[in-house]
Amino acid sequence: MSRTKSVGQFIFSILFILGIIFLITTFNKPQAAGDLKVYFLDVGQGDSTYIKLPSGKDILIDGGPDNSVLNQLGKVMDFADREINLVILSHPHADHLNGLLEVLDRYKIDQVWETGVEYPSSTYDSFKEKIKNQNIPDKFVKAGDTIYFGDIKISILYPLSGLEKKTIDNLNNASIVNRLDNNKFSILFSGDLEKDIQKQLLDKNIFTDVLKVAHHGSENGLSEDFLNVVRPEIAVISVGYDNKYGHPASSVISLLKKYAVKIYRTDQNGTVEIDSNGKGYWVK
Ligand SMILES: [Zn+2]
Repeated sequence: MSRTKSVGQFIFSILFILGIIFLITTFNKPQAAGDLKVYFLDVGQGDSTYIKLPSGKDILIDGGPDNSVLNQLGKVMDFADREINLVILSHPHADHLNGLLEVLDRYKIDQVWETGVEYPSSTYDSFKEKIKNQNIPDKFVKAGDTIYFGDIKISILYPLSGLEKKTIDNLNNASIVNRLDNNKFSILFSGDLEKDIQKQLLDKNIFTDVLKVAHHGSENGLSEDFLNVVRPEIAVISVGYDNKYGHPASSVISLLKKYAVKIYRTDQNGTVEIDSNGKGYWVK
């Protein structure tokens, strides 16, 4: 065998082995499943939470008080994504509802979950009209209703019975309370449900990692009895800077501190992002 030929064979063998190594490392990598991403959006005095699921699907809970939700969604949604798979309206007060009208005009919404509670408001009427005109399935939910997106489960815990066409004296107490479970990680969304009514949930599945504190941290949004059962590690308060209601109440902040709960506030931290892979979670 000539010396030239053996050198050529040697180089070929090296390239061949490198090629095999390249193919193995490129195609044998475990595909990292996307993390769940939850954004408590900085929409001022109101509530709006955008949830990006590992599958790429998405959920919006409430829309905040105005069109600031559009700007916030623009920052966290994929540029090409013009569709939201599920919109949940906790209750039709303006600080949760108004932004959803803007969202309905600009995104394709697959389905809406709400309670269907009776509430005389021209904004709520427009909301219902837009849903009807766009043929969006509008489901009136209550405790026991669930939906799965892959491993992610959304469960409704409140209202305990259907509120369709019912008049409730204090609309805060017609709020949807729902939990999101991603294997070992969970978040409890408590709408604006006030503490007297929260008592009805103490025997339910409300132990959780993250609590979205009810009613923007108002004094009537959290009781010790409730906190003692929920036992979150993190509390998120969605609240406007220097708001006229004095939210959050100092009593609520003290209570959370007493239980060593880490507090994040949209008025101080801006949009709060919490990511989870189903085992652990990270606040960004
Ligand atoms: Zn509110």
